[in-house]
Amino acid sequence: MIEIIPVGGFSEIGRNCVIVKYEDESVILDLGLNMEEYIRLTEDEDVPQRIPLKTLIRENAVPDLDSVKEEMKTVKALCISHAHLDHVGAVPFFTSKINFPVHGTKFTIEVLKRLLDDKRKNLKNLHAHPSNCKFKVGKKLEIEFIHVTHSTPHTVIIVVHTPEGAVVYANDFKLDNAPLLGERPNYAAMEKLKNVKALILDSLYALDPRKTPSEAIAREMLRDVLLGTTSENKNIIVSTFSSHIARIKSVVELAESLGRKPVFVGRSLCKYLDAAKEAGIINFEGKAEFVRYGGKVESYFKKHKNTKNKLFLATGHQGEPKAVLSRLANQKIFPFQHEDLVIFSCKIIPNEDNFKNREVLEKKLKNMKVRIFTDVHVSGHACREDHREFIKKIKPEHVIPTHGNVEMLEAQKELAKEMGYEDKKIHILKNFNRIFV
Ligand SMILES: [Zn+2]
Repeated sequence: MIEIIPVGGFSEIGRNCVIVKYEDESVILDLGLNMEEYIRLTEDEDVPQRIPLKTLIRENAVPDLDSVKEEMKTVKALCISHAHLDHVGAVPFFTSKINFPVHGTKFTIEVLKRLLDDKRKNLKNLHAHPSNCKFKVGKKLEIEFIHVTHSTPHTVIIVVHTPEGAVVYANDFKLDNAPLLGERPNYAAMEKLKNVKALILDSLYALDPRKTPSEAIAREMLRDVLLGTTSENKNIIVSTFSSHIARIKSVVELAESLGRKPVFVGRSLCKYLDAAKEAGIINFEGKAEFVRYGGKVESYFKKHKNTKNKLFLATGHQGEPKAVLSRLANQKIFPFQHEDLVIFSCKIIPNEDNFKNREVLEKKLKNMKVRIFTDVHVSGHACREDHREFIKKIKPEHVIPTHGNVEMLEAQKELAKEMGYEDKKIHILKNFNRIFV
């Protein structure tokens, strides 16, 4: 029997973590942050690494690995699906407990190295793999990475092969048949899988009855805004997710079409771009300027008065008060003028703080008579009709919806039922609500 132990991210969104156990061997899949709780805990802290692990666990900011002490003795590896913080961000807080290898793709491992550096932590046993590969992690367990598309590069579906069948972990993904960076999803490898006992499935857009549009559509939306709007003699700022390298690539290409030099402003943005360069994905050096440190932002704009032949990419699309975009708007660092363009290539991640912060930021921009473009964006998560295709390809015996609130998980259950699954084969789990398959 294969045991599946949900540790974080079940009936909640964030801090993804699940243990798959077979006899006396197990693997941990993902070790992420609950961003909302983590930000709430750390926003008043200048040195967040000083928050004790116990507090982070108590406040539900990281997965509670202390509650699975027995299983921890059997762990052979930690495998990370992709570089988003809700999947990898908790690793630096558990370095003293991670006495096993950590596996991920090249970009994921490069990002993880930087997260560890930020917290002045170290892990020796990091393994960077290609996006399609197989490797052994114990006598009985073999891991397979299958390339899939998402909103950050080198995302994989993780398959845990055991002598009694496989568990497929697809959290997060989209099925993009015209990706702008990297290959299409590896459908052949998905269809080749045999004897899949369980599928753990991203459900964020399970309520949305459509197929998620390609990233190529997001590029067209950006092209329309950037090339179809009067911007001569105006400043342009685009804000998007720092880890969304494909989106950033589109912005850089469009800046070139406009004859503007791209300028990356913000530490987090530059950190992910460095990781992308190191992972061999893309290198913008020579093509763009980098303002890497928060402290340098002000001096950059003091020194560079001609800002209208540039296109600025800045962090802070959720309106985070400490991020670059809010600072530019608040502190009069940036020479905002009537009808400058601020483009939000993102959606607001739905929580109260984000809505409030964005409202404050947009109000300030409006007061300066800046033109605001919101939602120039396409999601990185699969929708209901992608889920259907995916379940058809994987043919799991059991379906375990994750990464969603109760309504989303229920919607995923309804889809599985519609596809002929019996109630007892669909499992809406809570953390530590373990099952055998
Ligand atoms: Zn993700």
